[in-house]
Amino acid sequence: MKKLISLFCTLVFSWQISAAFANELRVVTSLPSFASIAKSIGGDLVSVTSVAPPQFNPHFIEARPSDVLRLKRADLFIHGGLDLEAWRGPLVDAAARAEIRPGGLRALDLSQGIPLLNVPQQAVSRSQGDIHLFGNPHYWMSPDNGARIARSIADKLSEIDPANAPVYSQHLTQFLDQLNASIEVWKRETAALRGREVLGYHDEWIYLMNFLGLKMDRFVEPKPGIPPSPRQLSELEAYIRANHISALIQPTYYSKDAAESLNRSTGVQVLLLCQNVGELPECGDYISMLNYDVQQIATTLKGSAHP
Ligand SMILES: [Zn+2]
Repeated sequence: MKKLISLFCTLVFSWQISAAFANELRVVTSLPSFASIAKSIGGDLVSVTSVAPPQFNPHFIEARPSDVLRLKRADLFIHGGLDLEAWRGPLVDAAARAEIRPGGLRALDLSQGIPLLNVPQQAVSRSQGDIHLFGNPHYWMSPDNGARIARSIADKLSEIDPANAPVYSQHLTQFLDQLNASIEVWKRETAALRGREVLGYHDEWIYLMNFLGLKMDRFVEPKPGIPPSPRQLSELEAYIRANHISALIQPTYYSKDAAESLNRSTGVQVLLLCQNVGELPECGDYISMLNYDVQQIATTLKGSAHP
């Protein structure tokens, strides 16, 4: 009898669990940072997965058959728009659903409403090696844009699930409260560093640099997506020395050869920061990620003498 009761309890429990899962909205995002914000807004009402894993360059992800299947079943597909996710178009084509195509009810392009930086003034082409054809697509790295992204997600979830709109709205308020409190701290801790210059590997930090008031005009890559030649590396060495640059920032997945070479020749400190949630253990969610990056930058710049 005991066994029967236990079996019954297990069945009831399993049913409740699967019923709960059945009611969750299945949200698929292109990038893990969007997934983190979507989870903050959706809470228990959503299950969220990301196509791109955080440990790889998000420009060059190979979508798998299982990603196509997830998109076929998704209640909502959240992506970055623009051209960062070059793999997104073929993936959406393979899923063959009008609802997740641009403008579809179940698609959310987060670039809408974002004030983009570095929008080219004249036509550029991918054949020139450039992979930011519509403006810099790494916009989630600014906390102000994180707030915009959260609002867009709350609006879209409320549109496709109006019964739970008050819950999404409440989660949005909680997220923005936490983010705004962190923004206060970050601004305070970096106030004395405004105007300092740092170097980037790829042009993907400009939104964070603008937020912090730091300058980043030079990159290890001569153009987005193109590695430096030996001649370009020696030019960078001269630039670092002439401008007393103390930090070079790059995410974890690029080759570290150029950075290590510049570190050896000039002493510039190499900071491996998170460009996406989950890239390092310290970057477990969106706010933690920005917190980690800002603290690392602040500690390094405060520890190096300003010329
Ligand atoms: Zn890029």
